[in-house]
Amino acid sequence: MLLQKTIKAKITNLTATKERLLEQEYSNYQILIHSIITNEPNCIETYSSINLYSATKQQALRFSKKHKPKPNRKHPMIIRRDKFKTEIQKTKITKFWARIPICNIRGGMWVPIHMSYKHEHLLTLSIRQAKLTKSNNAWLLHITVQKQTNIKIPHNPRILSIDLGEKYMTASVELFNNKVTNHKFYGKEARGIRRHYAWLRKRLGNRKNLGTIKMIECKERRKINEILHEISAQLVNRAAESNSVIVLGELRGIQNAAKGKRMNRVVSNMPFHKLTQYITYKASWARVAVFKVKEHRTSKTCHRCGSIGKRPSQGLFRCPSCGLQYNADLNAAINIAERFSEQCLENGVVLNPPLNRTRACKVSTFQCKPVQPTFS
Ligand SMILES: [Zn+2]
Repeated sequence: MLLQKTIKAKITNLTATKERLLEQEYSNYQILIHSIITNEPNCIETYSSINLYSATKQQALRFSKKHKPKPNRKHPMIIRRDKFKTEIQKTKITKFWARIPICNIRGGMWVPIHMSYKHEHLLTLSIRQAKLTKSNNAWLLHITVQKQTNIKIPHNPRILSIDLGEKYMTASVELFNNKVTNHKFYGKEARGIRRHYAWLRKRLGNRKNLGTIKMIECKERRKINEILHEISAQLVNRAAESNSVIVLGELRGIQNAAKGKRMNRVVSNMPFHKLTQYITYKASWARVAVFKVKEHRTSKTCHRCGSIGKRPSQGLFRCPSCGLQYNADLNAAINIAERFSEQCLENGVVLNPPLNRTRACKVSTFQCKPVQPTFS
């Protein structure tokens, strides 16, 4: 499986000469793209005469054929991967450097870049593409790298099961050798953020302040996204370290489970879908397998005896048969783990010792195939 990641880097500390050269290359690229897309009569002449690195010219042509770029807009300058290079070299200014091809400069121009240190290892991977943009007078580089990964399914792995819940964003447990351990919650703060912004929106809505509403919507999305990235990273790290496979409940019935208008809004706004995507993507990067099982009744079934229970309140599960009282999300996470383990056995894949108890509901349509990550 081929996976890609994009590193964002900022070009800084440019000397006046380098700044001028970069500006010239970038604006000539814009002129050329504009000339091609608006089909100016002299666009062929522009193509041959404009001061732009030849490989970058070809990229401009390819880009405008493929994407139909819009006029009056700046387009990222696409640098061909064989002409682009990065280097790690500890200097006074920075640790990271990038080489950008510039017209009439032999061997290109080295510019200092700033990027997150945690992405340092990514620079050793093969580069797919680099894009140069300018926004608010800052030069930015988007460097896309790729690597080949094979997902490994360990022999007799732990099962890290994740329930994407209502009260907390995720509840997770580990199942190994018939024992459930490591009950954990993630993303508790997300609900508070949602509520706060919903309240804020309502107040602003009354005052017809639409511009501000838009702005705070962006802010809210950014905050939630940050949490989602954090949760997915933590879960995947945990799985990678403990040699686990990740099992998720297939998302359905969440809307139905939420009663009442207010709860419905909170739930339907929760980006469960995004979280699933982040987990799947990060997992494949770390070579961790992700499986999905049908979520049907996982939140209503008692994990101890298999009877159908009730949820007297949002976060609580109560079983009428065996009297179990349990956190509802954790109960669901345990059911997901056990369902996966059972289904693996049914399919002849031995992941765990069998569970020695009878279960109320079983799902037979199950394919023991890891989920493929989707790119967005
Ligand atoms: Zn029970």
